[in-house]
Amino acid sequence: MELYIHIPYCRQKCRYCDFASYAGQEQTMDVYVDALLCEAAATACDTPLSTAFIGGGTPSILPPALVNRLLSGLHERFAFTEGMEFTSEANPGTLTEAWLRAAITGGVNRISMGMQAFQPELLRSLGRIHTYEQVVRSVVLARDAGISSISLDLMFGLPGQTPEMWRETLDAALDLAPQHLSCYGLIPEDGTPLKRDLDAGRISLPDEEDERRMYDDTLAILARHGFQQYEISNFALPGHACQHNIGYWRQTPYLGLGASAASMLHTPQGCLRTANPSDIAGYIDMTKRCNWHRREIIPVSPEDARFETLMLGLRMTDGVPERHFETLHGITMEQYCGKTLHALAARGLLEHADNCWRLTRYGMDVQNAILVELLEATENGLSDG
Ligand code: SF4
Repeated sequence: MELYIHIPYCRQKCRYCDFASYAGQEQTMDVYVDALLCEAAATACDTPLSTAFIGGGTPSILPPALVNRLLSGLHERFAFTEGMEFTSEANPGTLTEAWLRAAITGGVNRISMGMQAFQPELLRSLGRIHTYEQVVRSVVLARDAGISSISLDLMFGLPGQTPEMWRETLDAALDLAPQHLSCYGLIPEDGTPLKRDLDAGRISLPDEEDERRMYDDTLAILARHGFQQYEISNFALPGHACQHNIGYWRQTPYLGLGASAASMLHTPQGCLRTANPSDIAGYIDMTKRCNWHRREIIPVSPEDARFETLMLGLRMTDGVPERHFETLHGITMEQYCGKTLHALAARGLLEHADNCWRLTRYGMDVQNAILVELLEATENGLSDG
């Protein structure tokens, strides 16, 4: 089982962000950590953890004393596996030596940092609080503290970003010798200041051709530097792919603690998904009163679970192994949607090799259209096979 812990605090809200993260609520951190430990006590089980991930928000603004309390409390309640991957997100400009010491003492061995862009004007327009120089300092700090696996998040397709600026960002990230890079295309989310500016015509996105060039450059440049693409947006040096995310894409059960955190557990009745209240006060109130029924319960039908295996698996360059699908769902992929899979392969969008179905390079560009086609074909259960 995988463990996820959500820290919903940020110094400042980025202009594109619609995550459950809040600025100016630091005064609740102490009580929030108590709430996390309370939820941990109520949900802990003996199943050994395969990975753990502290996400946010900005986990690196939690004071080191609270990091100590949180991590030692989690170790008392969960069966951490020796040497397992334990990642924490951290943001440049907030990372300190004391925080790193506390995190490492608590078992953190991998840091994922939001660099996003190299150019100061792009960082400013995104509402990020840091500069590239602070990214450099934070990477050095993490490495000096003993973290040997560092991941950087980068964003392309930003307003005002040219393919040349994106290549500069990739080069600047590679200069820091990370073991892992996540390169996400910007998705303007409703309700964010960035989306409002786009809708009002105050800013505009790069055109489709430029955006495709940025993605193509990503694949070429990172391959030249020894990075293997293992998912549409994720690249790693050998041995450094993020096991936590792979577990998520392969539908390993996970337990999420904290505001907005989701869990997915396999029960005798099937797959069960729950989601915690997304606001800090609502989450603290739920744990204080043990009102666990305030978690949203999202039943996952067998049809939904099958489609999810396809949707998540096709994001990965390994694709969907046929045996994995059959083990999870008790039917073969041929029975489930064989006709559509073969039709997509005939059009050069999917390939079938080594008992796996995966997207071709062209298929990656039109992944959403492929998923819509698969969804339509599978909506009527097994009628496609
Ligand atoms: S640091 Fe991350 S979580 Fe916080 S506001 Fe920015 S994008 Fe959102």
